[in-house]
Amino acid sequence: MRFDVVSAAPEVFSGWRTTSMLGRGQSAEAITIEVHDLRGYGIDRYGTIDDSPYGGGAGMLLKPEPLAAAIETAQGGDPAVPVVLMTPQGERFCQGIARELADLPRLVLVCGRYEGIDERVREHLVTRELSIGDYVLTGGELAAMVVVEAVARLVPGVLGDLESVADESHSEPLLEYPHYTRPAEFRGERVPEVLLAGHHERVRLWRRQEQLRRTLERRPDLAAHWRLSDEDRRLLARIL
Ligand code: SAM
Repeated sequence: MRFDVVSAAPEVFSGWRTTSMLGRGQSAEAITIEVHDLRGYGIDRYGTIDDSPYGGGAGMLLKPEPLAAAIETAQGGDPAVPVVLMTPQGERFCQGIARELADLPRLVLVCGRYEGIDERVREHLVTRELSIGDYVLTGGELAAMVVVEAVARLVPGVLGDLESVADESHSEPLLEYPHYTRPAEFRGERVPEVLLAGHHERVRLWRRQEQLRRTLERRPDLAAHWRLSDEDRRLLARIL
């Protein structure tokens, strides 16, 4: 999968883009991440990319001509490539949307700045608007990183072990079970005995039970979306 990010602050992405999972995913050619510098599309000899809003008011806006040109370049000349605008006014990003996006071959992500972008670019070029939460950031760069990371780790070949994605929080409407590593005792607290005994089926059942327990304790709202198996019902009865 290919991600093309349009940003007026491309330097923000440099270390992040090549670190850890994203670096390995690119080396394995499972994903490509390109960052397009909006400043390279500025109009006039000063390379202007922003202007004051019609009607007055505080702040500046990203001008339509440079932004439209950068987005079209990022689409590689194919207007069918989806364009996601990062905005606090968008649909709330979640694991379900990450799964949908991970099925796409290409995606353009647009980072706003200042007060945002000219409305006509949104109308003509943007196909989806995503927010990472109900708060306001200075620019869309961190939001775009959140989306790229959450989507990229679902693309086959990016993570070594696809199993780890299946068990994770939010892959179902459940949180993950607690984890322990060596030593078996830390500050007087022992690792649950079931994990030390090496009985795979008991470990599996304990983990499932702890997923249900943890979700009920921390995110009871997720329980409305559960589709429980008979085994889940038995485990739940034990917890309750
Ligand atoms: N004036 C805008 C408003 O009230 O909706 C906020 C603009 S914000 C200062 C600048 C840019 O940061 C936005 O254009 C957007 O790209 C990005 N941004 C800020 N908060 C965000 C959020 N919660 N999710 C996604 N992007 C966000």
